[in-house]
Amino acid sequence: MARQTASDPGFGVYVHWPFCLSKCPYCDFNSHVRSQPVDERRFVDAIGAELEHRASLTKGRTVRSVFFGGGTPSLMQARSVSTILNTIAKHWQVAPDVEITLEANPSSVEAARFRDYRAAGVNRVSIGVQSFDDAALKALGRLHNAAEASNAIDVAAQVFERYSFDLIYARPNQTVKAWEAELKTALSRVREHISLYQLTIEPDTMFERLRNAGKLAIPDSDLGRAFWDVTQELTALQSLPAYEVSNHARRGSESRHNLIYWRYGEYAGVGPGAHGRIITPRGRRAQSTERHPEMWLTVVEADGQALIEDELLTNEEQGDEFLLMGLRLTEGIEPARFEAVAGRRLDPGRVASLIADGMVEMMPTGRLRVSAEGFPVLDAVVADLAA
Ligand code: SF4
Repeated sequence: MARQTASDPGFGVYVHWPFCLSKCPYCDFNSHVRSQPVDERRFVDAIGAELEHRASLTKGRTVRSVFFGGGTPSLMQARSVSTILNTIAKHWQVAPDVEITLEANPSSVEAARFRDYRAAGVNRVSIGVQSFDDAALKALGRLHNAAEASNAIDVAAQVFERYSFDLIYARPNQTVKAWEAELKTALSRVREHISLYQLTIEPDTMFERLRNAGKLAIPDSDLGRAFWDVTQELTALQSLPAYEVSNHARRGSESRHNLIYWRYGEYAGVGPGAHGRIITPRGRRAQSTERHPEMWLTVVEADGQALIEDELLTNEEQGDEFLLMGLRLTEGIEPARFEAVAGRRLDPGRVASLIADGMVEMMPTGRLRVSAEGFPVLDAVVADLAA
């Protein structure tokens, strides 16, 4: 069976579970809080219907990765996860070494489900720790505390061979020194993978409203750079270099699912607000589903699927997406693959000028990647190359 490589990223399935117990003030994901219990069985049946629909569009693929994201998929019953995985196995061939990841919040209730998820087929958890500081967790609107986060990592380490956890840094009022101490604690708990996200203020979030009202101060770009630098230094010292702008792993332990996105592979997305990119005889299609959970459910129950977007991408759009995704990776991109996807060559003048500015570098293998200096200003570098 062919393995996942940079030029053959493979096929994955993304399942979106859109519910959370509360809305975090920085979050712009498609996550919803319900005061009444969710009819989980109906949602799982509808996810099954969407899986059947996407399978009819992607016959013959081998699933190399399944990712349960959200929202909070660790609010799902393990038997729901098992039902969904059985449905996937019914519709596609599944690679023997398939990676099956479930995002989990570290509450004690959710950690207690880890063994059942493992028995259902999940072989990797990604835990939303966010901080090891109780006051910071409160400010981030999280419902767990540092002790629960630590316990969830312990349980994950016992149950799963592979686990990861997320932290958010450059938070309001956080100092670089305090982050350094917190990151050292975090790194001592890492087995193979950690995600480190610099806090960004997203549109239409509570944090945006607070910032606009002058009630939330986040680090400016100079301080943000200091946070970034210490993050890169400490992770490199622990043999956990960044393989993507916010993700660090030991070699060979990268998130295979996210590599499918960043290497511009193919994936089917099911559930409310899920995105997909699938390749059809006419070309690559961008798909996304109805975001509102109950509306999505109604449409799927009536029509078997709830796509609200299903567009053939132009070469130009594919080229832009390819750069946007691929340049996030420290392995960079293959210029020949860009040419195949975009139907044009990268502008040699722009490449030369970005190399001269130290923002990108051509590797001996012929791949083009963003340099260490370019990563903190990645968006600007990508915009320049794509123009
Ligand atoms: S738990 Fe995650 S998905 Fe849910 S609101 Fe918080 S950040 Fe968003």
